[in-house]
Amino acid sequence: MYPAPGAGHLIPTVEFARLLVSHGLAVIVVQRGLPAGNATVPASSLYGNGDASASPFLSFHYIPEPPLPHGMPEGDHVGKVFELSRASNPELRDFLRATAPAALLLDFFCYSAADVAAEIGIPTYFFFLGCTASLAVLLHLPVIHGQNAVNLGDLGGEPVKVPGVTPIPAHDLPAAFLDRSSVSYKHFLAVSQQLCQSHGVIVNSCRSLEPRATDAVAAGLCAPPGRTTPPLFCIGPVVKSEEVAEKQGEECLAWLDTQPEASVVFLCFGSMGRFSAEQIKEMAAGLEMSGQRFLWVVRSPAGGNGNGNEHPGEPELDVLLPDGFLDRTKDRGLVVMSWAPQREVLAHGSVGGFVTHCGWNSVLEAVMAGVPMLGWPLYAEQRMNKVLLVEGMQLGVAVERGEDGFVTAEEIERKVTWLMGSDGGRELRERTLAAMRGAREALSDGGDSRAALLQLVQRLSAPDVTEESVCQL
Ligand code: UDP
Repeated sequence: MYPAPGAGHLIPTVEFARLLVSHGLAVIVVQRGLPAGNATVPASSLYGNGDASASPFLSFHYIPEPPLPHGMPEGDHVGKVFELSRASNPELRDFLRATAPAALLLDFFCYSAADVAAEIGIPTYFFFLGCTASLAVLLHLPVIHGQNAVNLGDLGGEPVKVPGVTPIPAHDLPAAFLDRSSVSYKHFLAVSQQLCQSHGVIVNSCRSLEPRATDAVAAGLCAPPGRTTPPLFCIGPVVKSEEVAEKQGEECLAWLDTQPEASVVFLCFGSMGRFSAEQIKEMAAGLEMSGQRFLWVVRSPAGGNGNGNEHPGEPELDVLLPDGFLDRTKDRGLVVMSWAPQREVLAHGSVGGFVTHCGWNSVLEAVMAGVPMLGWPLYAEQRMNKVLLVEGMQLGVAVERGEDGFVTAEEIERKVTWLMGSDGGRELRERTLAAMRGAREALSDGGDSRAALLQLVQRLSAPDVTEESVCQL
């Protein structure tokens, strides 16, 4: 398996690897760069080297970060991730030749490795870490491209239509889709093509969460005319398992133990989410005004720790938070710095609501814990996920921003109070619990996701098996 760097990619990849290992396969996870390169993510949650819970059939291989190819425009971070992956192909080629695996499972950011696999004669699958609806959008991107002569970013709120998917206002599409001249956009068009040429796409979702999108992709309605849709394996939700409980963050779990059931709203914004110092103060004001219990992960603002230090280390809470905030809220709130054991927190009975950046892993972790969400997207495909979550799955409500993207204390107070204390909030919780039951059923014996996993394992164990014989299994 070859994931892109970052916790949001590594965590579900390793969890999926553990699933495959539990079904008798051996997995090597190839990682580019250092295992704990991202300072905001502790090595424990990245599983590190030789994690005690890993079986001998799960190992890690590190390849060095290559130099960034010349000519990359500044600021196109997504484009850089694609380019760095391509630049790693020679290292990967050597490794694949030496190990000769039965199959290569790729994160889409590493799609250019499909060329290496083809050269060596290894089947390529994609492990798609977003939801099925976002896979549908990506498969459909060449069609959307052909329908529009202008940048998608110029279409404003005009809805973009994809079979099986809730219409998505163009400005909510992933930022990398908005400028057709960007390096990242060209890569995404190429990803779309490679997905169709692969041996299969494994998605971390289940049909019960996204029936329309799943059926539309499986029926070949999303890929451009003339391209084949590869077999679809919806094997999720795969979330961090309980055996890999984090050693860090015991303090906040102990604090949750002292709180009433379903009373705490948890605020956490992915492995990379950061706010301006001004927005952090406003969030504090909103939480205080709401009077609700809260557990809040606060990070240093982008570009500094609140005290003029440009390298964001641990946040200086006394500088970032309003005067006296921690003291005034100490009986009902806890602020943790930089990182919390999110899956364990969400699964704790005291947590009754989640303010999330809408990263797909975070959404799945909340669904698996039956915790209703407020969506506050920040980067990557999160605005699209928010639309899918709110309009499509109806498992969340949006936090509204102003024109400049700023969210006021009043809006935070209003939405948090609604989520934790209104009939609407209770209905949302009921819907989320129903989604949780559907997802658990999908994973259980005889469920859709389990069946898809068994089919996939069969295929990976016998790579020569034909499509027809798999269908008969
Ligand atoms: N995470 C965590 N603690 C934190 C922040 C994030 O454990 O303080 C985990 C979270 O549980 C999830 C992953 O990091 O498994 C983030 O993935 P997601 O797809 O939600 O967002 P990304 O970080 O990719 O934007």
